[in-house]
Amino acid sequence: METDCLFCKIAAGDIPADKLYEDDEILAFRDIAPQAPVHFLIIPKKHIENPAAVGSEDEKLMGRMLRRGAAIAEENGAQDFRLVFNSGAEAGQTVFHIHMHVLGGRSMQWPPG
Ligand code: AMP
Repeated sequence: METDCLFCKIAAGDIPADKLYEDDEILAFRDIAPQAPVHFLIIPKKHIENPAAVGSEDEKLMGRMLRRGAAIAEENGAQDFRLVFNSGAEAGQTVFHIHMHVLGGRSMQWPPG
């Protein structure tokens, strides 16, 4: 745990979140500023800065995040959904604890802005 990391604090239960799923390794919670009718984040409890910092030992964990995200999207009525990882400030990352955005419930445009 990184003491000054917002998502580490959420994972530890020190800061409240609107949780959708939790187990020993991962946590899903609604985004505080939703950009779609369905918008939640999945994080590993382990502190990893961003996708660029994912190691080979994290591959199964990343796969679990993806599969759980798809399942929760469906449970929330989003058959079609978009998964987004921002890696680095230039790409729009503002919280430096890896998180997968799951967005659904509206039609999406491509390319993203
Ligand atoms: P990113 O810009 O990819 O780093 O995404 C960070 C996301 O975290 C943004 O969509 C924020 O709205 C969201 N966020 C920030 N603080 C919180 C919080 N306390 N609870 C839930 N979501 C948050």
